[in-house]
Amino acid sequence: MAVRNIIQLGDPTLRKKSFPVVDYGEKTHQLLDDMKQTLKIADGVGLAAPQVGVLRRIFIVSYDGLYYECINPVLSNCSGSQSGVEGCLSVRGKSGTVIRPNKVTVKAYDRFGKPFTVNAEGFLARIFCHENDHLDGIVYVDKALDVQEDD
Ligand SMILES: [Zn+2]
Repeated sequence: MAVRNIIQLGDPTLRKKSFPVVDYGEKTHQLLDDMKQTLKIADGVGLAAPQVGVLRRIFIVSYDGLYYECINPVLSNCSGSQSGVEGCLSVRGKSGTVIRPNKVTVKAYDRFGKPFTVNAEGFLARIFCHENDHLDGIVYVDKALDVQEDD
């Protein structure tokens, strides 16, 4: 496992649309392992592949003892709404208020190509929405009602 560099807002890669994953082999496993290590070191709750410069539809989520590796994810059944503060490992030192759905269903594939479904709500739903946006070149600052410097 290796810690990868997390690219920052302003890098054009963050604004590109990621491509579907077709390889569930060694290279993807290595990427996932590296992303997990990178997220742990960065002390974040989610990380998308484009944030480490890889334009593939992959993100990981680590929150409240839960850990998900999502490949080719599709979000559906978005319902309700929540307003809350979020930050991003690619926008260091800032945070902003973003309105997100309160509930969302995530259908994705694991590293072996096996499909799974997660029904998330609250902060977990927020993380999934935030990470999924990265796969389409969207950063939370695009949707934030305000963006502030952290203390
Ligand atoms: Zn982010």
